[in-house]
Amino acid sequence: MTEIEVGPNFIKAIIEEDLKAGKHQSIVTRFPPEPNGYLHIGHAKSICLNFGLAKDYKGTCHLRFDDTNPEKEEMEYVHAIKEDVKWLGFNWDEHEYYASDYYERLYLGAIELIKLASAYVCELSAEEIREYRGNLKSPGKASPFRDRPIKESLDLFKRMRAGEFAEGQYTLRAKIDMASPNMNMRDPAVYRIRKAHHQRTGDAWPIYPMYDYAHCMSDAIEGITHSLCTLEFEDHRPLYNWFLEVLKTPAHPQQIEFSRLNLEFTVMSKRKLLRLVEEDLVNGWDDPRMPTISGMRRRGYTPRSIRNFVSRIGVTKKDSSISIATLEYSVREDLETICPRVFGVVDPLKVTITNFDDDTVEIDCPLHPKDESFGSRKVPFTKVLYIERSDFLEDPPKKFFRLGPGRSARLKYAYVITCDEIIKDDSGKVIELRCSYNVDTFAGHTPEGMKKVKGIINWVSATESVEIECRIYDRLCSVPNPGSGKENFLDDLNPNSLRTLKSRVERSLKNADIGSRFQFERQGYFIKDQDSTSENPVFNRIITLRDTWAKIK
Ligand code: ATP
Ligand code: MG
Repeated sequence: MTEIEVGPNFIKAIIEEDLKAGKHQSIVTRFPPEPNGYLHIGHAKSICLNFGLAKDYKGTCHLRFDDTNPEKEEMEYVHAIKEDVKWLGFNWDEHEYYASDYYERLYLGAIELIKLASAYVCELSAEEIREYRGNLKSPGKASPFRDRPIKESLDLFKRMRAGEFAEGQYTLRAKIDMASPNMNMRDPAVYRIRKAHHQRTGDAWPIYPMYDYAHCMSDAIEGITHSLCTLEFEDHRPLYNWFLEVLKTPAHPQQIEFSRLNLEFTVMSKRKLLRLVEEDLVNGWDDPRMPTISGMRRRGYTPRSIRNFVSRIGVTKKDSSISIATLEYSVREDLETICPRVFGVVDPLKVTITNFDDDTVEIDCPLHPKDESFGSRKVPFTKVLYIERSDFLEDPPKKFFRLGPGRSARLKYAYVITCDEIIKDDSGKVIELRCSYNVDTFAGHTPEGMKKVKGIINWVSATESVEIECRIYDRLCSVPNPGSGKENFLDDLNPNSLRTLKSRVERSLKNADIGSRFQFERQGYFIKDQDSTSENPVFNRIITLRDTWAKIK
């Protein structure tokens, strides 16, 4: 396998500097998903970055579930996330952690903050807190509880923990600077009361730490050296550092921000993806149209193609939206080398070879044109065949080199046929072509005196092939930036993102395993889907052979 070209990655330079300067013996990174949905291709960027750096610099990467929001989190998501990270090819060994495992330590840290006069229990309502905070133009106003005696805050916080109060009645807030130009520093919340059942700690905790506090503390507890996150956390970095400095944690991870991955023609936020799932607008999180890792897996993308894609786009601080063509390029590149090629006719049109009276000719066809190690299989040629409906035009333009009335085309690996007669049904739809074949044109041969036939088309035997259900996917959304300038991103969903056809494939695919991938000659790459039964095999089209999308745009 040749090395792929990789994009820039400014974080590598920082790590190399740090290692050279002896700042760390080895690096520790982490991938910190919140288990509130399935992972998407944006997360794949973060996974490849964090696990990739640990691998490149012989460090460690932790998988940490940032599970501090019990209302939205579920164990189903924890399992799905683990499966996706593994499938992408990464391994966290024993380093599987949960922010919820640190609840006791986080609680003790909060007590410490109060004792240091760096946090206080506030009685303002959520709305009042918002009001008091001010805005970017005006400073905030101090809460009347800001200077509450340490002893009183300690007592109230302990009672918050004991479950004595109702939700919203009290909040623990950091005491920082109500006039800071950075809104995150205007006495942010550290703990809030939530009478929610947690998927791991059950009902043990009536209070839950806020993300900004839990995240930096979890990083410090685990001895993370480089805490990599997306750009929207840049303004949170002062707060990240503040907690660690005030609490004098033994480790002080360095937060570094990079730009998110955005993909055109799709939505990425888990909130929006959840909506698609809950409103049955797709068939679950792993619907092959979804930008989720599980959707891409089911669609037939390979882990290597996703890793290569992520390496190619690189890691920078510049916001950008990546075209789907870039992702699809990596997918095609990988499938090209690993998929055997077979015949499949996606939208079949019947062809009768009127002058063919043999039983069957078994034709030996290679399974890969460039790689002999794939071997070959026998494909039966019979009197009645199917070809692709789009390979025939009743009134073809001059440059159309496939079949039309009186025109000839070559059936790949077999014979040249000529269309002599067209049969239509009552509605005028073409339902059959009656053709003659030239026995001297077998396997690419052009007899002397005969003009070379340009068009080569795919085919299967009508009697010796298998019917399948073919699912043809298109973009999830019909515009590059769904939802922009609109109330609702759902208005931008592509109504034709899934088409289902009755197709035919050669008999060698009859017992193909679920998950096996093929190139159907000229039609694209396909994967056998888990919905298959022995009566109804189902294949998803992974991708076309060329970037047809670029032409449509
Ligand atoms: P979303 O906004 O899509 O719901 P999130 O950021 O809330 O996602 P988390 O579970 O918190 O999801 O993310 C885990 C990690 O993945 C974080 O470190 C986050 O920065 C990173 N991440 C999430 N989305 C992207 C993206 N589009 N590109 C790169 N990294 C991402
Ligand atoms: Mg998040």
